[in-house]
Amino acid sequence: MSVLEQTASQQAIALEDKYGAHNYHPLPVVLNKGEGVYVWDVEGKRYYDFLSAYSAVNQGHCHPRIVGAMTQQAQTLTLTSRAFYNDILGKYEEYATSYFGFDKLLPMNTGAEAVETALKLCRKWAYEVKGIPENEAEIVVCENNFHGRTTTIISFSNDPVARKNFGPFTNGFVKIAYDNLKALEETLASNKNIAGFLVEPIQGEAGVYVPSEGYLAEAKRLCEKYNVLFIADEVQTGIARTGRLLAIDHENVKADILILGKALSGGAYPVSAVLANNSIMNVIQPGNHGSTFGGNPIAAAVAIAALDVVKDENLAENAFTLGNLFRSELGKYIATSSIVSKVRGKGLLNAILINDTEDSSTAWDICMALRDNGLLAKPTHGNIIRFAPPLVMNEEQLLDCVSIITKTLTAFEK
Ligand code: PLP
Repeated sequence: MSVLEQTASQQAIALEDKYGAHNYHPLPVVLNKGEGVYVWDVEGKRYYDFLSAYSAVNQGHCHPRIVGAMTQQAQTLTLTSRAFYNDILGKYEEYATSYFGFDKLLPMNTGAEAVETALKLCRKWAYEVKGIPENEAEIVVCENNFHGRTTTIISFSNDPVARKNFGPFTNGFVKIAYDNLKALEETLASNKNIAGFLVEPIQGEAGVYVPSEGYLAEAKRLCEKYNVLFIADEVQTGIARTGRLLAIDHENVKADILILGKALSGGAYPVSAVLANNSIMNVIQPGNHGSTFGGNPIAAAVAIAALDVVKDENLAENAFTLGNLFRSELGKYIATSSIVSKVRGKGLLNAILINDTEDSSTAWDICMALRDNGLLAKPTHGNIIRFAPPLVMNEEQLLDCVSIITKTLTAFEK
């Protein structure tokens, strides 16, 4: 087909395919506009966004308050680097630390960078405060984790696609089963060099695995017992997504190190952060860690606005209520379905399990049909489809989405 005969979507896809590295496998839809819970493709078709850029766009696309803060700051001062002070970073740090209840914040840009930051912070604390001999600290992680894709982070992943041919890997990690307190206690009790326990309160990328009730609270108690830092990766679960400000809030757990990203900016800009109290964060001294863009004035202005929106628009409460409605409505459908076996999740972070083999294309085919019916979602792993709309959705829109999903699934029933 000549370029002239191609649709605008086909042209955009062909360009990415030819000139971009093939490190993603996107659903074939080309978007050029977003507003609230909706996105539009280049042919003008409107869709419900049921992924929210992997839970970054919790506040909805192009939220006017966030865009307003960003444009105003962009016209004033964009980047100073941390070689100099700027007049907004401190305000953001004061705001965010009081918002989440910590003494200090270390600003970064992406989720993976924030995870790296937390690992470095934990190790340094282990040597300088806990007294572990240098280079011997170990951090406990969980099987099927997803914390990003840097060399160190994939060192403790067990996803063969993320790891194959990227070695040699970073040492110093012990992997245990997720949602298994016995494994955690055995590891903490038998190894004096454990510095931290890094955990996703819900494993998002793995397929929205919600651990047993009480797991996080007991894991935190065990960490306290063995003087090990409880590090919560709330990059995907945080900022109201699961129906509370943080997913660990469901069990009244306070992390020693909190990792945030994604919706910290409402998806408008790469903003991530690590929060901790002084007893931990004060081990970081000038030159130990940093980033040219981390804590830049635009990021600071955007994050303040994005956090304001979460509070002012009661997004956690909305996610809680609509999440219950979503699971109960889909549950009614699933009761008699042959194609879907389960819906699970918390708040508006949910997934359905498709009745088919892990390597079948059914979940992908369903997402293609959902796209045709006006709703965008993507399989996580194999036969699991994640559903994570912006949290600014209302009940009428949610019920409309449920009807699109059930109508689409009906066509796949055997
Ligand atoms: N941690 C968790 C739990 C995530 O879900 C992700 C991304 O999906 C990351 C870290 C990495 O974030 P980023 O893609 O911004 O590097």
